[in-house]
Amino acid sequence: MLKVLKFGGTSVGTLDRIQNVTEIIKKIKNEGHDVIAVVSAMSGETNKLIEYANTFAKKPASHELDMLLSSGERVTSALLSIALNEQGYLATSMSGREAGIVTDNSHTKARIEHIDTQNMSKAIKDGKVVIVAGFQGVTKDGRISTLGRGGSDLTAVAIAGAIKADVCEIYTDVDGIYTTDPRIEPKAKKLDMISYDEMLELASLGAKVLQNRSVEMAKKLNVNLVSRSSFTPEVEGTLITKEENIMEKPLVSGIALDKNQIRVGMYKVRDIPGIAATIFTALASADINVDMIVQTVAVDGRTDLDFTIPTNDLETCEGVMKIFEDDVENIDYNEDVCKVSVVGVGMKSHTGVAAKAFSAMAKENINIRIISTSEIKVSMIVSEKYAELAVRALHDVYNLDK
Ligand code: ADP
Ligand code: ASP
Ligand code: MG
Repeated sequence: MLKVLKFGGTSVGTLDRIQNVTEIIKKIKNEGHDVIAVVSAMSGETNKLIEYANTFAKKPASHELDMLLSSGERVTSALLSIALNEQGYLATSMSGREAGIVTDNSHTKARIEHIDTQNMSKAIKDGKVVIVAGFQGVTKDGRISTLGRGGSDLTAVAIAGAIKADVCEIYTDVDGIYTTDPRIEPKAKKLDMISYDEMLELASLGAKVLQNRSVEMAKKLNVNLVSRSSFTPEVEGTLITKEENIMEKPLVSGIALDKNQIRVGMYKVRDIPGIAATIFTALASADINVDMIVQTVAVDGRTDLDFTIPTNDLETCEGVMKIFEDDVENIDYNEDVCKVSVVGVGMKSHTGVAAKAFSAMAKENINIRIISTSEIKVSMIVSEKYAELAVRALHDVYNLDK
């Protein structure tokens, strides 16, 4: 079998942890498999590099940031390769460019356009373990690009899809996908399987265990994706797969929490046709990912408009809002909010899931500020101080610990 393995920041966080990764790879090689290993930077490294850049500039040029940030992953890929070679296993490290990962020009959040697998295939044929620096590629103009935070997951899935690997195993510091973040709810249960769509919702709604774009790509390319632990590699992880492969469809699969949210309140907006279109077009043009939107009933030709954005888009949003100063009486930005979400494919065919979520909030006296629903999720904006309580209350009301 050809296996693509990905080791996240904590899994390569110290030299000892890198040594531990060599043990995992050697075992899989000894079982007769071919291995491509994708590695993250050592944990904390990417944040540290961003801080370094910010000491010199508030908004460094994005292609310079990419040059800087891609270095973290190169360090670990080379160290892992050096260690394996020393231990008698042929290995070769590759940057994103050497691995043939070509992206568009959107520096710091580049999209993979295609992967030329030639170099990797040749190295595999020569019996080598290929160690790819995750999170990066090269633009058509030959500049280094990065794929957005958590992007090494995407590197692994994209390579697995392009080279038609049998499986893509994402090794991290938990042994699979749980019904919610086990750091918040210790009673959370590990799932044996979860559908691509549910995992995509959980990841997009805040569960950082897998990067959402990697799940989207896995679904598109039909990659057998497994989440498991580098700390306990003997434990079976969670398989992320097609919905039809899952026999018993749970009503609710998991609860996600996203603290990285800001609620923007526009009060007494002029209620004229086209105003919402103008506002949200301006936000979209500024590349701001608006999520939940509520508009209240207009009174005296004025209406209130509330929406949420990711925390790191605050400054850009404030800039955009300047255009609308004459159309609105007052705008406020509330950072004391978070989004809790309930995800499950069973919602498609069962009623009462949302009502249950609202009752759980009511029982804990948690005020819900904004609600949004889709076919397989219910999301609520609540005060950030209730974040963990809300997650545990939801976990409890759907009996996810059972
Ligand atoms: P890596 O550095 O390996 O990429 P991350 O820190 O990005 O790892 O993701 C792993 C973390 O995701 C876990 O430590 C856990 O706290 C968190 N997490 C959030 N939601 C879940 C969930 N539903 N199941 C498992 N882990 C989760
Ligand atoms: N090192 C990058 C980050 O911290 C990419 C990754 O770890 O997946 O976001
Ligand atoms: Mg991650």
